[in-house]
Amino acid sequence: MEDCLRQDIRGLSLDEIKELLAGAGEKEYRGEQVFRWVQKKAVACWQEMSSIGEKTRAWLAEKTYLRPLELKEELVSEDGTRKYLWKLGDNKTIESVLLYHEGDVTKARHTICLSTQVGCPMGCSFCATGKMGFWRNLSAGEIVSQVLDTTRLRRKETPAFKAGNIVYMGMGEPLLNLPAVLKSIRILNDKQGQNIGIRRITVSTCGLVPQIDELARQNIDIVLAVSLHAPNNELRNRVMPVNKKYPLEILIPACRRYIEKTGRRITFEYALIKGFNDDQEHGRQLAQLLRGLKANLNIIPVNTVPGASFSRPKPENTRRFAELLRKMGLDAVVREEKGVDIAAACGQLAGRSEVRGFAF
Ligand code: SAH
Ligand code: SF4
Repeated sequence: MEDCLRQDIRGLSLDEIKELLAGAGEKEYRGEQVFRWVQKKAVACWQEMSSIGEKTRAWLAEKTYLRPLELKEELVSEDGTRKYLWKLGDNKTIESVLLYHEGDVTKARHTICLSTQVGCPMGCSFCATGKMGFWRNLSAGEIVSQVLDTTRLRRKETPAFKAGNIVYMGMGEPLLNLPAVLKSIRILNDKQGQNIGIRRITVSTCGLVPQIDELARQNIDIVLAVSLHAPNNELRNRVMPVNKKYPLEILIPACRRYIEKTGRRITFEYALIKGFNDDQEHGRQLAQLLRGLKANLNIIPVNTVPGASFSRPKPENTRRFAELLRKMGLDAVVREEKGVDIAAACGQLAGRSEVRGFAF
């Protein structure tokens, strides 16, 4: 049957699956079993659902489809970071990144960085995805699938594999696709599925003010990250077109409202670009801008993208910049780099012509 007449079962919540199966006269627990096969066990086909009778499986297959993302390529970095290039049902391609953190075994050590759109319409000048244009939003099922298929592939080598953190920092602007993003979060957070702790889920935005307000109203305990990248409007306008619509005097009060409403801190992302936003005066302006806000500041040496005219500061200058901000009372850290050799850093996705669909 045509896919357009069926629903992607990976994009259905537990309640929706229960409701669907109620239509076939099935009991509630059957819905739970199916949800666990789909979401927790991350099965790739109906036959793997061994506890579900053939008749029910056939019925489900008529109403829904179960289709893993097609792996086009997997790149493995020396530091264990993996970049997955996936082909979607309509042949578009997206990427996800699996990051591995060394350290305390009791801590969640794997983070998956998810894409939310094919391309991105926001056009930030330092961003590989921003340069490729925009095709479409991903569905909740396609967002969830990036976690399920990464997990499924890793489990072939490491049966107990489980992602501990999710960051919506891959291709696309999550807040332009808020309904699908929220639905994917609720599915990934479900205890009977991947059971990703809600506070271990980060959504990053370039600063869309109405959607930040909307997210605050949702009462969902995720971490919000806001990409700042410049300490004043003059500089921010030059690299982030969104700033012309929502300049800092509009964005920062929206962040303050979000913090007041949710009681949560906001993480601000600041990509340090040599000779652009990295001197002491910029640091002082940044400290002034964020003064009094419950915030963390992540300083990220910018990743160069093909054809880019900017570069990253020297490591000692990056350290000094972070140090200056800490002295001025900000909770600033330098974010460690991952997968540099495979261009896997979040925000550096879609860095090849075949992914973007055209060459630089
Ligand atoms: N659209 C969202 C989320 C995806 S981008 C956003 O912009 O926040 C994830 C993060 O990577 C953002 O902070 C983004 O600004 C950053 N980023 C994009 N290109 C980058 C680059 N070349 N170097 C460093 N960070 C980059
Ligand atoms: Fe889009 Fe984020 Fe890239 Fe800007 S930085 S173009 S918002 S993905």
